Amino acid sequence: MQELSHYIDGAHVKGASGRFADVMNPATGEVQAKVPLASADEIGTAVEIAAQAQPEWAAMNPQRRARVLMKFVDLLNRDMDKLAEALSREHGKTLPDAAGDVQRGLEVVEFCIGAPHLLKGEYTDGAGPGIDMYSMRQPLGVCAGITPFNFPAMIPMWMFAPALACGNAFILKPSERDPSVPLMLVELLEEAGLPKGVLQVVNGDKEAVDALLDHPVIQSIGFVGSTPIAEYIYSRGCAAGKRVQCFGGAKNHMIIMPDADMDQAADALVGAGYGAAGERCMAISVAVPVGEETADRLIEKLVPRIEKLKVGPYTAGNDVDYGPVVTAAAKENILKLVQSGVDQGAELVVDGRDFKLQGYEDGFFVGPHLFDKVTPDMDIYRKEIFGPVLTTVRAGSYEEALGLAMDHEYGNGTAIFTRDGDTARDFASRINIGMVGVNVPIPVPLAYHTFGGWKKSVFGDLNQHGTDSFRFYTRTKTVTARWPSGLKEGGEFHFKPMD
Ligand code: NAD
Repeated sequence: MQELSHYIDGAHVKGASGRFADVMNPATGEVQAKVPLASADEIGTAVEIAAQAQPEWAAMNPQRRARVLMKFVDLLNRDMDKLAEALSREHGKTLPDAAGDVQRGLEVVEFCIGAPHLLKGEYTDGAGPGIDMYSMRQPLGVCAGITPFNFPAMIPMWMFAPALACGNAFILKPSERDPSVPLMLVELLEEAGLPKGVLQVVNGDKEAVDALLDHPVIQSIGFVGSTPIAEYIYSRGCAAGKRVQCFGGAKNHMIIMPDADMDQAADALVGAGYGAAGERCMAISVAVPVGEETADRLIEKLVPRIEKLKVGPYTAGNDVDYGPVVTAAAKENILKLVQSGVDQGAELVVDGRDFKLQGYEDGFFVGPHLFDKVTPDMDIYRKEIFGPVLTTVRAGSYEEALGLAMDHEYGNGTAIFTRDGDTARDFASRINIGMVGVNVPIPVPLAYHTFGGWKKSVFGDLNQHGTDSFRFYTRTKTVTARWPSGLKEGGEFHFKPMD
């Protein structure tokens, strides 16, 4: 049994708390490693080391910090296959999907290479007689991030790449379900030239998270995960005086207008609903066809596509569409929700409940499910299922479809499929959701734009990556300077314009 470690002060360090979590192989159902769960003391040690390492890193000019990231990109590309394999082994997603997970993180690292430009401040020449005013963006100090299991490469990189580019030290507490890739990433960064102690990985659960939230030296917390935990972390972190951004769960609607290309819409729904076994915060989990005829045509197109899906382990090659879900508990929760859908009167058009994969009977595989005639009061509509279950809510009109997406408590992503520019424009303008696709089912913005939902999908002000991340990981200092030649004699006692 492999015993994983933390990565503290430039070295792998064994856990000292005596507490461990099992890391599963979701395809076989076997425990493949034990991950240590850090105590508050172990977090304290990492914070102390980060605080010592940070000033020197911040003092390095931004171009030199960017060069470390540049080299890191090379190393990510060099080790892409190795990273993807390690990721699939613990998460269960297919190899091409795992490589995509690394790639979408890598793209944010590439964006952060622009740090010298992005960190430039503002300057006003002659803000008053002989007075200049300038602002600069300075790092926060020691930052921390808490990440979910579903993107173990991408989301850590979305956090630590901008944090490091801005001159901060960073402590990452990755998901205890798939911690190996984050440990590999910190090794690669140090190979690229990052000084030890600037990025550390401390594994753990609630105890480690609470220690990060309460530690007075930590200046900011980034969190991605489920909404109840996001809400908890946001309130506790803010109460401790930190800058906090938390990204939570989702229930993403795709609206299919009668004029949409129904083959394209069905293809898009199958990819966005079942890819990664539905374990994506930007997965489409609700299809909303507008009009009975559209709904009938859509279901007719969807069923054969869903029945053809290949479910299997990542080792079975590139023609597998999706793999197992992450744990036995996740599988149980999904099947319980499916049962609730049946009990509450939805029509289960594709039933994956009896799915079994020969040779992998103990794996956490879940067959694809398609529900039709779902109503907004049902649990399968209200709750995030996070599994290969697509629900269909039939809407009588465009306004009704729009209203459904707007009334849902989550607001991460949404999409509309139509050929009508007016409808698409109206939808993009009125919808109260953070990321919108027009004939694009999973509208994850690229690295140089920002990522974030609305409503219960987010707690905090600034988005992830793009220019927002440089704002989140720096604070502004503004200097007003007057040289002796501009000074007048005598004290000034009134607050007045600079003249
Ligand atoms: P999770 O909330 O269970 O765990 C996320 C992190 O929080 C992990 O590191 C975990 O160790 C920690 N954690 C768990 N329970 C905790 C507690 N009681 N106190 C303190 N820390 C705790 O989420 P998950 O199952 O790993 O990930 C799936 C969820 O993440 C889904 O809801 C999905 O929609 C969401 N997600 C959101 C986004 C987004 O950008 N909005 C992106 C990816 C995933």
